Amino acid sequence: TAGETLLEVNNIEVIYNHVILVLKGVSLKVARGGITALLGGNGAGKTTTLKAISNLLQSERGEVTKGTILYEGERVQHLDPAALVRRGVIQVMEGRHCFAHLTVEENLRTGAYTRRDGRTAIEADLEMVYGYFPRLKERRRSQAGYTSGGEQQMCAIGRALMSRPKTVLLDEPSMGLAPQLVEQIFEIVRAVNENEGVSFLLAEQNTNVALRYAHQGYILESGRVVMEGSAAALRENDDVKEFYLGMS
Ligand code: ATP
Repeated sequence: TAGETLLEVNNIEVIYNHVILVLKGVSLKVARGGITALLGGNGAGKTTTLKAISNLLQSERGEVTKGTILYEGERVQHLDPAALVRRGVIQVMEGRHCFAHLTVEENLRTGAYTRRDGRTAIEADLEMVYGYFPRLKERRRSQAGYTSGGEQQMCAIGRALMSRPKTVLLDEPSMGLAPQLVEQIFEIVRAVNENEGVSFLLAEQNTNVALRYAHQGYILESGRVVMEGSAAALRENDDVKEFYLGMS
């Protein structure tokens, strides 16, 4: 049911290269059916937290050395990223990784690779994605590498949706995009959340926009959660206003 805890990170510690302690005991919860924002400045540990959840740290020589990660009540630290995708958790990496030499539509189709249901379901989901991102439909035959930054971000999110996720870990969707486009992307995230019931954990440096769309928020500083609460409460908090919203 909506509102219950879907994903729970308990006191995790992450170390890179055996020596660099980056997460110093991070705990957070993602509610089913919610949008949870993970906020903080450059290098605070947002990406590391997302990668710890989706088990993508290994290739970066990073390791969760303490704490637990529970998804739907079960420990998922032993699952590889593909197994997690089958469980319904997918990460959209920072920097909108699309395959540059594939067309937009081919990129979207690669998102369905872990699925075992038939062609019809996949075609229906392609139309679902095009419904949210009409721009991608217009650009479907273009090579992704030649599309704009905003279109590539849409393509990366659309591809994630093609795996029929329950939870999307979205890393810095606003990065490098003009304000109007940022709003557009967040509007779509909200619509997908409301209409498809997909939960989001989104890492953002843009506190202002993230707290307008999220339900809950956590603020990270140097690998620790320094503040948490409902988005509405965080928006009204004096420290958040002064240090993160740029209006004291
Ligand atoms: P950004 O917005 O820049 O991505 P972030 O909050 O996502 O910031 P992380 O990318 O998680 O922060 O980085 C947290 C800290 O970990 C930084 O000090 C960074 O230099 C360090 N770090 C990240 N990746 C590695 C790595 N592979 N090896 C060593 N240190 C790393």
